[in-house]
Amino acid sequence: MEDLQANIRSLKGVGPKKEQRFLKLNIETLEDLLYHFPRGYEDRREIKKIREVEEGEKTSLELQVHPLKTRRAFGKGPSLLQLVGKDDTGSMVITFFNQPYLSQRITPGTKMRIYGEVKRGPRGLETANPDFILLGDKGENSWQEIFPIYPLTKDVSHKELVKLIRMLLKGIKERAEENFENLPNPLIEENKLCRRRMALEHIHFPQKAKGLKVAKYRLVYEEFFFLMITLNFKKAKVLEQQGTPLQGGKEVQNYLETLPFQATEAQKTVIGEILGDLKGSAPMSRLVQGDVGSGKTVVAMAALVAAAAGNTQGAMMAPTEILAKQHYKTLSHFLEPLGISIGLLTGSLTPKKKKRMQEEIRRGTIDVVVGTHAVIGDKVEFRNLSLVITDEQHRFGVRQRKTLSGKGKNPHVLVMSATPIPRTLAYILYGDLEVSVIDQMPKGRKPVKTQAAEMKGRDRVYEQIKEELNKGRQAYVVCPLIEESETLDLNAAMDLQEQLQGNMLKDYKVGLLHGKMSYIEKEQIMKDFTDGKIQVLVSTTVVEVGVDVPNATVMVIENAERFGLAQLHQLRGRIGRGQHQSYCYLLHQKVKEPTRRRLEIMEQSHDGFEISQKDLEIRGPGELFGLRQHGIYNLKIANFFQHQKILQKVQQDVKKILLEDPGLELEKNRKLRGIIDQKLQRYRD
Ligand code: ADP
Ligand code: MG
Repeated sequence: MEDLQANIRSLKGVGPKKEQRFLKLNIETLEDLLYHFPRGYEDRREIKKIREVEEGEKTSLELQVHPLKTRRAFGKGPSLLQLVGKDDTGSMVITFFNQPYLSQRITPGTKMRIYGEVKRGPRGLETANPDFILLGDKGENSWQEIFPIYPLTKDVSHKELVKLIRMLLKGIKERAEENFENLPNPLIEENKLCRRRMALEHIHFPQKAKGLKVAKYRLVYEEFFFLMITLNFKKAKVLEQQGTPLQGGKEVQNYLETLPFQATEAQKTVIGEILGDLKGSAPMSRLVQGDVGSGKTVVAMAALVAAAAGNTQGAMMAPTEILAKQHYKTLSHFLEPLGISIGLLTGSLTPKKKKRMQEEIRRGTIDVVVGTHAVIGDKVEFRNLSLVITDEQHRFGVRQRKTLSGKGKNPHVLVMSATPIPRTLAYILYGDLEVSVIDQMPKGRKPVKTQAAEMKGRDRVYEQIKEELNKGRQAYVVCPLIEESETLDLNAAMDLQEQLQGNMLKDYKVGLLHGKMSYIEKEQIMKDFTDGKIQVLVSTTVVEVGVDVPNATVMVIENAERFGLAQLHQLRGRIGRGQHQSYCYLLHQKVKEPTRRRLEIMEQSHDGFEISQKDLEIRGPGELFGLRQHGIYNLKIANFFQHQKILQKVQQDVKKILLEDPGLELEKNRKLRGIIDQKLQRYRD
C-alpha cells in the first residue's frame, strides 16, 4: 500500500527532469499516475475494409501481408520496413520505421490486425507505424479494442504514459488483492463494486465497454467516498472539542419581537438550528446560505444575542470596510437597545481609536466586535470570545477564519454565504460544516426586470435609464474586473465615467467608485450616493457586496459576458430593494453559446439557487467554488451532477461508518484511518 505513495522517480526511466514534466500534470506519486485517467477512448472494435476507408481516417483493418522491402539506414537515417497489406477489397502500403527486426516476424502470408491513420500517397493508400498484432499469434488476446486517450502536456508523450501505466499495473497484478484494496470490504460487497485492481486496469485498458462501465462506477464511488469520509471525519473531530454552551432562547425571542418586521419562516428555522448548536457542548460549525436579500443579518444577530446573553463576546467579520461599517450600523441599531454594546474595528481607524477599541475588547466592555480582517490582528485579545461569524465567507481564506477561531476557547463558528449552491452540493463542499439554508425571501420583493442587450443597443439602454433618473431614481453602472491588471481595470472605469458624464448622461451627476480608492474616499462617494447628490454611480465590482441604497432601481452591467452567473446575480442584488420596480441591463459583445444561454438564464430567473444550479450544469463546478478547488476537492472522475445517485449512497455509507466509530479507532477501520490521515496530511487546508 505505502509504496504507491512513492515518488514517480521510483519508476524505471523517470529521473528528475521527467519528474518535473509529470508535475505539470499533477502527477507526483505512483498513485497519482494510476489515477491519471484517460479523458476518452478510441474505439478500435470496428474493422473496416480497405475500400471503405476514408483518407485521413484512423481505423482498424485486418490484412494479409507481403513484405515489400527492408532497407537498412545509412548513417543516421531511419531503417525502413515496407509491406503490402491486402484484404478482399484492395491493398495498401504499411511502413514501419526503425523496427527492422519485424521483418523476421512478418513473413509472406502473415495475417495481422492494424490500427493507424490512413493517408493517400503516391502508391495509393498507406499508413505508417500502426499499432498491430499478428493474428493466430498468442499476442492476439492483447489487442486493445478500446484504447485510452490521456490528458497530456507537451513534454509527456502519450506513448510514454501508456508504457508507464502498463508497467505499474503489471506490478500491481503481482500483489495480493486484499493488500491493494482501499475500500472496506463490506462496502464493496454491499454496493457490488469491482475490486480496485480490476477497476484501474479497466479504466486504462478496457477490454469491453461493460468492463469500463463497472470500473468507472467503482472509481467514482471511491473518489466520493474518500472526499466525504475525510471531510466528515474532520467534522467529527471538531465535535469532540469542548466549546462554550450558550442558552439564550428567551433573549432571542425577545429580540425577534423588537424587529420592525416579522421574521420569515425560513429565518426562524435557521435561527432554531443555530440555537440548537449553541446549546451543545461541542462548538458549532455551521454555514448559512441565503440568497442576496434573504435576510442573513437578522439571523446572524440572533446568534450574537445568544452570545451576549451568556455573558460572552461575539465577533463578526466582513470582507470590506464598507460592509463592516454597514453591519456596524445595523447591529448598533437593533442590538444596542437590548443592552448589547457594539464596537467597530477596521484598518482605517486612527491608531489612537484602534488602541482604545482593543482595550475595550480586552476588558469586555464591548460585547460584539464588527470588523474587517483587522479583527484578527495580532494585538486583538478578547476577554471571553464564544462566537465568530464571517459574512460572505467565500471571500475569506480558510486560514483567516482559523486564526480568529484560535482567539477564543474553541468558539462557535457561523459562516454566512450569499453564493447559493444547491443544498446537496453544499453538504459536500462544506462536508466539515453543518448547512442551513434560508430558502425564502421577505414578503413584498419585486423581481428585477432583467434584459440582455448587445452593444449596438447601448444608446437605447441609456435612454431608458434617463427615464428612471427623471423619475428621481438612481442607477449603478458596473464595469468588469480586468483580471490581468488592476490599473487597466481602473482606467476602464474612469474612462466610462468621463464618457457618460461628458455625453449621454451630461445632465446628471455621475460619480465613480473603485477598489483603489482610500476608505475615506469610498465612504464619501457612498454617502453622496445615499444622499442623492450623485445620481449615477460608475463602479468596478466593489459594489458587489453590502451597498444598500433602496432608491437605486437601475443597474447597467457593461461587458456582462465576462461575469459568472453567480456574480451577476450578486450584483443585481444591489437593486430591487425598495418599493419601486427595478431594472437590470446586461450589455454584452456579440456572444456565442454557452454565454448566450447564461445571459438568458439571468433574464428568466431571479432565484440564486436556481441560477447557480444552471450555471453548474453549463460550466461544471469549476469556477464557482474558488478556494475549494484544490487538493481533495479536485475530483478526477466523479462529477457532482452526473453521479448524484452514487454520491447519495456514499453519503449514507460514510454516515454509517462514522456513527459506529466516529474516531475511526476500531481495528477494522485501521487501514481506512491510515488512508485518511495521509490525505489530510497531503492536502492540509
Ligand atoms: P442578506 O441576506 O443579503 O445579507 P440582509 O440581511 O442585508 O440580506 O437583508 C436585506 C434587507 O431585508 C434588510 O434591509 C433587512 O432589514 C430586510 N429584512 C430582513 N429580514 C426581513 C423580513 N423578515 N421581512 C422584511 N424585511 C426583512
Ligand atoms: Mg448580507
